[in-house]
Amino acid sequence: MQSLRFNAIDNLISNPVEVKVEGSSKITAIFNENVFTQQVARKYLSDEAFKSLIASIRGGKKIDRSMGNQIANGLRAWAESKGVTHFTHWFQPLTGLSAEKHDSFFTLKSDGTPIEEFEGAALIQQEPDASSFPSGGLRATFEARGYTAWDPSSPAFIMEIGQGKTLCIPTIFVSYTGESLDAKTPLLKAVVALDKAAVDVCQYFDKNITKVTATLGWEQEYFVVDAGLANARPDLILTGRTVFGHAPAKGQQLEDHYFGAIPERVYAFMRDFEHESYKLGIPIRTRHNEVAPAQFECAPIFEEINLAVDHNTLLMDVMERVAKRHSLKVLLHEKPFAGINGSGKHNNWSMATDTGVNLLAPGKTPKTNLMFLAFFVNTIKAVHDYADLLRASIASAGNDHRLGANEAPPAIISIFIGKYLSEVLKQVESRVSGKFDEQDEAMLKLDIHKSIPELMLDNTDRNRTSPFAFTGNKFEFRAVGSSANCANAMTTLNTIMAETLKHFKIEVDGLIEKGEKKEVAIMQVIQKYIVDSKNVLFEGDGYSDEWEKEAARRGLPNVKTTPLSLDAYITEKNKKLFHGNEIYNHAELEARHEIMLEAYIKKVQIEARVMGDLATTFILPSAIKYQNVLLTNIKGLKETGLSPATYANQLQVLEKISEHVNMVSDNVEKMIEERKSANEISDTRAKAIAYCDKVKGKYFDIIRYHVDKLELLVDDSYWLLPKYREILFLR
Ligand code: ADP
Ligand code: MG
Repeated sequence: MQSLRFNAIDNLISNPVEVKVEGSSKITAIFNENVFTQQVARKYLSDEAFKSLIASIRGGKKIDRSMGNQIANGLRAWAESKGVTHFTHWFQPLTGLSAEKHDSFFTLKSDGTPIEEFEGAALIQQEPDASSFPSGGLRATFEARGYTAWDPSSPAFIMEIGQGKTLCIPTIFVSYTGESLDAKTPLLKAVVALDKAAVDVCQYFDKNITKVTATLGWEQEYFVVDAGLANARPDLILTGRTVFGHAPAKGQQLEDHYFGAIPERVYAFMRDFEHESYKLGIPIRTRHNEVAPAQFECAPIFEEINLAVDHNTLLMDVMERVAKRHSLKVLLHEKPFAGINGSGKHNNWSMATDTGVNLLAPGKTPKTNLMFLAFFVNTIKAVHDYADLLRASIASAGNDHRLGANEAPPAIISIFIGKYLSEVLKQVESRVSGKFDEQDEAMLKLDIHKSIPELMLDNTDRNRTSPFAFTGNKFEFRAVGSSANCANAMTTLNTIMAETLKHFKIEVDGLIEKGEKKEVAIMQVIQKYIVDSKNVLFEGDGYSDEWEKEAARRGLPNVKTTPLSLDAYITEKNKKLFHGNEIYNHAELEARHEIMLEAYIKKVQIEARVMGDLATTFILPSAIKYQNVLLTNIKGLKETGLSPATYANQLQVLEKISEHVNMVSDNVEKMIEERKSANEISDTRAKAIAYCDKVKGKYFDIIRYHVDKLELLVDDSYWLLPKYREILFLR
């Protein structure tokens, strides 16, 4: 029987998949087609119900029972007009991307009459079978049940990929006593905290500002490979990455993939998932190749952060589903292939006021410049003060492979702001040295806006090696992993920003009370913040060894592994931060910490098992088969009485193979032992560290090294796993 590998290659060559994609219609014609937008709500709801919905979206106002029923009825009427029969509460638990439990509108009345109904109660709250979602002990401590609760600020949508159409109600997921069990609840809280703190500071500059919204524009990197080839790699299927695989003769050194033409089959897939995305209201705008072969990126127009997070989660789901009909597989893992660039998800973040101002865009007048400078410097201070937490917010087993590898930002959090703004900060710092007084009025006239061309210039040759970069009118948090839910990083960023702004206001108010002029007080605190946090600014090559040394001299944290970086969640300082801003209470933080450690352990555990299994049942049998071929050959040559020189080469190969075979089997054995000892550790943190340092740290690389050597020695026709050159270059 032919191996899966060769079957996949044969199929790929004999039937290129042709999927017809509707692509001619204008995007505006289909955009939001499957979303219960406010315009649609207006059509389907009574005045009263519509007002109640809008009040709840804008001001978080509670929707009462009778309004709930009316809105649910409107939603059902709309959904049924589109052929929907089922609904689900859609939520984002702490592992996995999104979760759903489908219920039908169909029900029986007490007399047995079948009807279709959707009640307000079912819209507003549900109790999914939550026992399988991670809670870090929270449900055990508080109450066994978990609830999903409707989040009206993210509109309902219809998911219609695959069979059937389902009305999805975006919800948050909380325990009976209100502890958050998902990614969204804390994000929504952080958004509220930031709004309040930012509005307070905005009031110094413009009394008309009453609301500040955080904005997010993510850039999603991903790999696309043939599904048949991927299916012949149990490691890809089970762990999302290849645990073995020698680098292909042609890697990414030519960089010919970047900005090259998108391959036909992938192009069809992209058009298809974009089409589905538009219907769901995801405003995708750009698509292009990435540096690595088979790697791509897409990015939407930025949105209010809550919606942007939902859209990213939804997109990842849509991509995976749509890929199936193209016989492709999307890899969202941070590092599917060793030696090839990994994938990230840049989080472009800013804040917008209800007066239409982007708070991170340099202004046109001295006053707005000062407002920009205040928010800009507060961001720097926040990142400086809570770098450990930002690092923790992006920690995962997958991202550990990427951060600090030679093509990804290091685990050191630093900020790149560009030449021009560095100069501005230097000026503020030195010209205002000591005390800023009214003589220095000129300082307020920093003509930042006049230098916008310069700023833009600075941007184009921007530093791609910084984990946190200012890119003209937003900060770009680049260290986020490609498979991550943005909510984690964004909750942290918004919280630390809220906290920093609160302190900023206290300090400025303090100076004003002492009789300082408002602008002068603001400048003085800005100046102090620059001094306090300039250590986190770095303009050089973030991937270099020199930076690592320099960062150590500056005392910047550089925690390389997930288990240790997660400690930041439970330090006294950070507990106070989250508690004070009402994002997490202490129990929730402990629970999150526990959940993230457990997720890490599980990932590494599965990888270790897959490695052991593949080595034993795929790699070694192939190697031994080939050993036997060599043996027979050598024996035959020897028997015919030929000189040893005639089979010296075979002997040498045989020796090498035997050596690698022994190394693989020895180390697999030892790794299994190490895994067993790790499993006996009851403290979750200690167990995660054991998995990290002992199981993974001691054995993954060495096993892989010898397996990859075998790949180069064993007859290709015996090799069972598709090779990198096939996965990355065949389509
Ligand atoms: P590039 O592609 O060169 O990194 P773009 O200007 O195309 O830069 O922006 C990249 C991402 O940043 C996009 O997703 C975009 O929507 C987002 N973005 C732009 N402005 C903002 C903003 N004010 N807030 C949040 N994200 C933004
Ligand atoms: Mg970018």
